[in-house]
Parts: sequence; C-alpha cells; structure tokens
Amino acid sequence: MTFREKAGQFRGFLRGIVWVHTIARKRSIVCKGVAMPDKLTEAVSSAIRELVDANHILFDQGVVDGFGHVSARHPDRADRFLLARSMAPALVTETDVLEFDLEGNPVEKGGPAAYLERFIHGEIYRKRPDVNAVVHSHSPSVVPFGVVAGTKLRPMFHMCGFLGAGTPVFEIRDFAGNGSDLLISNNHLGAALAQSLGKGPAVLMRGHGSTVVGSSLRQVVFRAVYTEVGARLQAEAMRLGPVTYLTEEETVATTNTIGTQIDRAWFLWLKAAQKRSMAG
Ligand SMILES: [Zn+2]
Repeated sequence: MTFREKAGQFRGFLRGIVWVHTIARKRSIVCKGVAMPDKLTEAVSSAIRELVDANHILFDQGVVDGFGHVSARHPDRADRFLLARSMAPALVTETDVLEFDLEGNPVEKGGPAAYLERFIHGEIYRKRPDVNAVVHSHSPSVVPFGVVAGTKLRPMFHMCGFLGAGTPVFEIRDFAGNGSDLLISNNHLGAALAQSLGKGPAVLMRGHGSTVVGSSLRQVVFRAVYTEVGARLQAEAMRLGPVTYLTEEETVATTNTIGTQIDRAWFLWLKAAQKRSMAG
C-alpha cells in the first residue's frame, strides 16, 4: 500500500470516529429529553434497539457470519430504512445504525462506509409495502438449493410452512452477464432481485445466498433461522429417499399456528445471544 493510500485509509477511519461520536452525542441528548430538531422518536429508538438485537441473534443462530445484514423499515417514514454501517453483525451497536432512502443513499452524508449490497433492502421495501424487515445472508445450508437445477427448497417440516409452494432462485447472469461478482451492488440488480422475490417470503441467489423478508424484525429473524434449518433438514431427508413435503393446506395451517409463537423463539435467542455477546 502506498503512503497516499494509507493516508486516505486513515482519513476514512477518522471520519468514521467523528461520525459515530456525533451520532452518540445526538442520541445522548435525546435520552436527556432535550428537544432537538433531529430528535429520534420513541418508535425509531425502539426499532434501532430491536435491529441491534436482530443482528446479534442472526449471528448467534448461524445465519450470518462476518457477512450478511438485516434491516428494518423506518417506523415513521415508509420511504426510508434502518441498516447498520458496513461491519460484522455480531459487533453492531445502536450508534452503528444508519438511515437510508430507498435508493440506498445514507440520509446523513459523510458517514462511515455502507454495505455494498444495501440495494437489496431499498428495492424490496419499494416493491413490497407489506415488508418491514429484510435479512440477506449466505447461510450455508441454503446455498446448495440455489445451484442445483430441479431441486427446490420446499417446506417438509412444520416450522418452515411459511416457505409455501417453493422458493424462487435469482439468476444474476440474466441481469449482470457472465462476469459479475454476484453481489447486488446497484439499484438495477436490487430491483431485479425484488422482482424475483415476487410476493413470497424468500428468494435464493444462485452461487451467493438468500434474502428473506417479513412484516416485522421478529418475524424475519424467525424466517431466516428456519429457512436455514429447513434447508439442512431437506438435504438430509433427500439423502434418505423420496421426501414427503407439506401440502399447500398444511403450509397455510402451520404458518398460522407457528406465527403466534414467534416471540417465544425471539426471547430465547436474544438471551442466548446476550450471554455470548461480542458487541462492545
Ligand atoms: Zn451477499
């Protein structure tokens, strides 16, 4: 690395520190109840806290590692969303959460680096008014189902009924050609992925990972964890012989029943993640 590059890197690092301190100061002012033009509402503060918890749970449950991200639609502005700065999910704290418009632009300029694939989130929120939370991950058991033609990820286990009739696979070559890095690194690819997701809860991304959506952070975390579990179980069952999948009626009935039990898993996973917390 040249001296010039090192100097540039150091300047970026300093900018990140200044930004984090500015945000921390603003939020501490809010905590003291002093009216500020940029005061966070209670709904936003609460969404940020839950988003931090979601980051930690997804790591603790093996859905994300150093990579992958989770976002929440802004509770007061449907045309914005909340997402951490570019960093490992297990290390995210409240001061790391940024606000973005649906184009994937950070609302506060001059802040730290954002995730390269933030366009996944903005384009899904734009296309799906019913979606309030999105998880993008490379969770390992799911990846094989995105690369084997003719083998669909389908629910064969009651906790995965939400997967419905089967999960679509997004082929990035159709939109970025044969030489892309497979990342959703612009709005054009984000919109194509959102189109492939359709009205469903999940879309697989060939050679890359998957994206899961939900009406809340708790629901999307539940779905992301059980998409990974369902993929692992389906692969194991397929090795044993022909698989009996849930009927369409069973997918609806199981989803309705399990949908009322999501908090039970959330609080267990949160406790486990807090016990093993890696965030400062
Ligand atoms: Zn990715």
